[in-house]
Amino acid sequence: MRYKVLFSTLALITLTSMTVMVGLFGCAAKASMNVQTAETEPTPVKRTDGTTRTVEFTDGEYDGKEIVKTDEEWKKELTADEYYIMREEGTEQPYSGALNKNKKQGTYYCAACGLALFKSTAKFESGTGWPSFFQPIFKKNVAEKVDNSLGEVRTEVECARCHGHLGHVFDDGPQPTGLRYCMNSVSLKFKADK
Ligand SMILES: [Zn+2]
Repeated sequence: MRYKVLFSTLALITLTSMTVMVGLFGCAAKASMNVQTAETEPTPVKRTDGTTRTVEFTDGEYDGKEIVKTDEEWKKELTADEYYIMREEGTEQPYSGALNKNKKQGTYYCAACGLALFKSTAKFESGTGWPSFFQPIFKKNVAEKVDNSLGEVRTEVECARCHGHLGHVFDDGPQPTGLRYCMNSVSLKFKADK
Protein backbone atom coordinates (compact mmCIF):
# COMPACT_ATOMS: atom_id res chain seq x y z
CA MET A 1 0.00 0.00 0.00
CA ARG A 2 2.76 2.39 1.04
CA TYR A 3 4.69 1.57 -2.18
CA LYS A 4 1.56 2.17 -4.21
CA VAL A 5 1.11 5.63 -2.66
CA LEU A 6 4.82 6.38 -3.20
CA PHE A 7 4.59 5.23 -6.81
CA SER A 8 1.52 7.39 -7.45
CA THR A 9 3.26 10.39 -5.90
CA LEU A 10 6.36 9.81 -8.05
CA ALA A 11 4.21 9.43 -11.16
CA LEU A 12 2.42 12.67 -10.31
CA ILE A 13 5.73 14.53 -9.78
CA THR A 14 7.12 13.20 -13.08
CA LEU A 15 3.94 14.17 -14.92
CA THR A 16 3.93 17.66 -13.38
CA SER A 17 7.58 18.34 -14.23
CA MET A 18 7.02 17.04 -17.77
CA THR A 19 4.09 19.44 -18.17
CA VAL A 20 6.25 22.31 -16.86
CA MET A 21 9.08 21.37 -19.25
CA VAL A 22 6.74 21.22 -22.24
CA GLY A 23 5.31 24.57 -21.15
CA LEU A 24 8.79 26.12 -20.89
CA PHE A 25 10.02 24.78 -24.20
CA GLY A 26 6.71 25.72 -25.78
CA CYS A 27 7.23 29.33 -24.67
CA ALA A 28 10.83 29.38 -25.85
CA ALA A 29 9.85 28.06 -29.25
CA LYS A 30 7.01 30.58 -29.51
CA ALA A 31 9.26 33.48 -28.49
CA SER A 32 11.92 32.64 -31.06
CA MET A 33 9.30 32.19 -33.77
CA ASN A 34 8.03 35.70 -33.03
CA VAL A 35 11.40 37.33 -33.74
CA GLN A 36 11.01 39.50 -36.79
CA THR A 37 13.54 40.31 -39.43
CA ALA A 38 14.38 43.97 -39.96
CA GLU A 39 12.60 45.40 -42.96
CA THR A 40 14.30 48.09 -44.93
CA GLU A 41 11.76 48.33 -47.75
CA PRO A 42 7.94 48.36 -47.76
CA THR A 43 7.64 44.61 -48.09
CA PRO A 44 4.26 42.98 -48.66
CA VAL A 45 2.50 42.11 -45.40
CA LYS A 46 0.44 38.94 -45.18
CA ARG A 47 -3.15 39.50 -44.09
CA THR A 48 -5.09 37.01 -41.97
CA ASP A 49 -7.00 35.79 -45.04
CA GLY A 50 -3.71 34.86 -46.79
CA THR A 51 -3.65 37.77 -49.26
CA THR A 52 -0.93 40.42 -49.05
CA ARG A 53 -0.81 44.20 -48.87
CA THR A 54 1.99 46.74 -49.18
CA VAL A 55 2.15 49.53 -46.62
CA GLU A 56 2.38 52.87 -48.42
CA PHE A 57 4.61 55.31 -46.56
CA THR A 58 3.55 58.94 -45.98
CA ASP A 59 6.36 61.36 -45.10
CA GLY A 60 6.00 64.80 -43.54
CA GLU A 61 3.75 66.28 -40.90
CA TYR A 62 0.31 64.70 -40.39
CA ASP A 63 -2.30 66.61 -42.44
CA GLY A 64 -5.20 65.98 -40.05
CA LYS A 65 -7.09 63.56 -42.33
CA GLU A 66 -7.94 60.57 -40.14
CA ILE A 67 -8.16 57.00 -41.39
CA VAL A 68 -11.20 55.34 -39.83
CA LYS A 69 -11.89 51.62 -40.28
CA THR A 70 -14.09 49.13 -38.44
CA ASP A 71 -12.57 46.33 -36.38
CA GLU A 72 -13.61 43.90 -39.12
CA GLU A 73 -11.79 45.96 -41.78
CA TRP A 74 -8.63 46.18 -39.65
CA LYS A 75 -8.79 42.45 -38.98
CA LYS A 76 -8.70 41.79 -42.73
CA GLU A 77 -5.97 44.37 -43.30
CA LEU A 78 -3.50 43.56 -40.50
CA THR A 79 -1.57 40.46 -39.49
CA ALA A 80 -2.73 38.73 -36.30
CA ASP A 81 0.20 40.24 -34.31
CA GLU A 82 -0.44 43.73 -35.71
CA TYR A 83 -4.14 43.47 -34.92
CA TYR A 84 -3.48 42.29 -31.35
CA ILE A 85 -1.00 45.09 -30.60
CA MET A 86 -2.37 47.96 -32.69
CA ARG A 87 -6.13 47.48 -32.29
CA GLU A 88 -6.34 45.60 -28.98
CA GLU A 89 -3.50 47.52 -27.30
CA GLY A 90 -1.38 44.45 -26.67
CA THR A 91 2.36 44.48 -25.93
CA GLU A 92 4.96 42.34 -27.70
CA GLN A 93 7.50 40.33 -25.72
CA PRO A 94 10.62 42.43 -24.94
CA TYR A 95 13.60 41.69 -27.25
CA SER A 96 11.26 39.88 -29.68
CA GLY A 97 11.20 42.60 -32.35
CA ALA A 98 14.08 43.10 -34.80
CA LEU A 99 13.64 46.89 -34.78
CA ASN A 100 14.71 46.99 -31.13
CA LYS A 101 18.37 46.60 -32.16
CA ASN A 102 18.06 48.29 -35.55
CA LYS A 103 20.83 50.90 -35.83
CA LYS A 104 20.37 51.81 -39.50
CA GLN A 105 19.65 55.42 -40.51
CA GLY A 106 16.10 55.91 -41.72
CA THR A 107 12.46 56.48 -40.83
CA TYR A 108 9.98 54.46 -38.78
CA TYR A 109 6.39 54.43 -40.09
CA CYS A 110 3.05 53.27 -38.66
CA ALA A 111 2.67 49.58 -39.57
CA ALA A 112 -1.07 50.00 -40.09
CA CYS A 113 -1.37 53.20 -42.19
CA GLY A 114 2.23 54.11 -43.15
CA LEU A 115 2.41 57.56 -41.53
CA ALA A 116 5.98 58.65 -40.63
CA LEU A 117 6.41 58.50 -36.83
CA PHE A 118 10.07 58.51 -35.78
CA LYS A 119 13.55 59.19 -37.21
CA SER A 120 16.53 56.98 -36.41
CA THR A 121 18.34 60.10 -35.12
CA ALA A 122 15.93 60.14 -32.13
CA LYS A 123 16.40 56.41 -31.36
CA PHE A 124 18.41 55.38 -28.31
CA GLU A 125 19.31 52.18 -26.48
CA SER A 126 16.97 52.08 -23.48
CA GLY A 127 17.83 48.53 -22.40
CA THR A 128 14.12 47.70 -22.09
CA GLY A 129 13.88 45.35 -25.10
CA TRP A 130 11.59 47.68 -27.04
CA PRO A 131 12.62 50.26 -29.67
CA SER A 132 12.85 53.61 -27.86
CA PHE A 133 12.91 57.21 -29.12
CA PHE A 134 13.26 60.56 -27.36
CA GLN A 135 10.88 62.36 -29.74
CA PRO A 136 8.48 61.71 -32.64
CA ILE A 137 9.27 62.95 -36.15
CA PHE A 138 6.51 65.59 -35.69
CA LYS A 139 4.53 66.10 -32.48
CA LYS A 140 1.31 66.11 -34.59
CA ASN A 141 2.00 62.59 -35.96
CA VAL A 142 1.38 60.88 -32.62
CA ALA A 143 -1.56 61.16 -30.21
CA GLU A 144 -1.38 60.57 -26.47
CA LYS A 145 -4.05 59.34 -24.10
CA VAL A 146 -4.27 58.31 -20.45
CA ASP A 147 -4.03 54.56 -19.85
CA ASN A 148 -5.21 53.33 -16.43
CA SER A 149 -4.63 49.61 -17.08
CA LEU A 150 -2.09 47.55 -15.06
CA GLY A 151 -3.07 49.49 -11.92
CA GLU A 152 -0.95 52.53 -12.79
CA VAL A 153 -1.40 55.71 -14.78
CA ARG A 154 0.60 55.61 -18.01
CA THR A 155 0.48 57.68 -21.18
CA GLU A 156 -0.43 55.63 -24.21
CA VAL A 157 0.91 56.66 -27.61
CA GLU A 158 -0.97 56.00 -30.82
CA CYS A 159 -0.67 56.95 -34.48
CA ALA A 160 -2.52 60.27 -34.91
CA ARG A 161 -3.90 59.24 -38.31
CA CYS A 162 -5.30 55.70 -37.76
CA HIS A 163 -5.21 55.57 -33.93
CA GLY A 164 -3.20 52.35 -34.04
CA HIS A 165 -1.62 51.61 -30.65
CA LEU A 166 2.18 52.12 -30.70
CA GLY A 167 3.28 51.91 -27.05
CA HIS A 168 3.71 54.30 -24.11
CA VAL A 169 5.72 57.44 -23.32
CA PHE A 170 7.59 57.91 -20.04
CA ASP A 171 9.47 60.91 -18.62
CA ASP A 172 12.72 59.06 -17.85
CA GLY A 173 14.30 59.45 -21.31
CA PRO A 174 17.54 61.16 -22.35
CA GLN A 175 18.03 64.83 -23.24
CA PRO A 176 17.10 66.96 -25.10
CA THR A 177 13.47 66.00 -24.29
CA GLY A 178 13.80 63.72 -21.25
CA LEU A 179 11.11 61.53 -22.84
CA ARG A 180 11.17 57.82 -23.64
CA TYR A 181 8.76 56.69 -26.34
CA CYS A 182 8.68 52.94 -25.67
CA MET A 183 7.30 51.38 -28.87
CA ASN A 184 6.31 47.93 -30.13
CA SER A 185 8.39 46.75 -33.13
CA VAL A 186 5.21 45.21 -34.54
CA SER A 187 3.60 48.67 -34.74
CA LEU A 188 6.47 50.07 -36.85
CA LYS A 189 7.82 49.60 -40.37
CA PHE A 190 11.36 50.80 -41.09
CA LYS A 191 12.65 52.31 -44.31
CA ALA A 192 16.40 52.94 -44.58
CA ASP A 193 17.73 56.21 -45.99
CA LYS A 194 19.06 55.85 -49.52
ZN1 LIG B 1 -1.32 54.83 -38.47
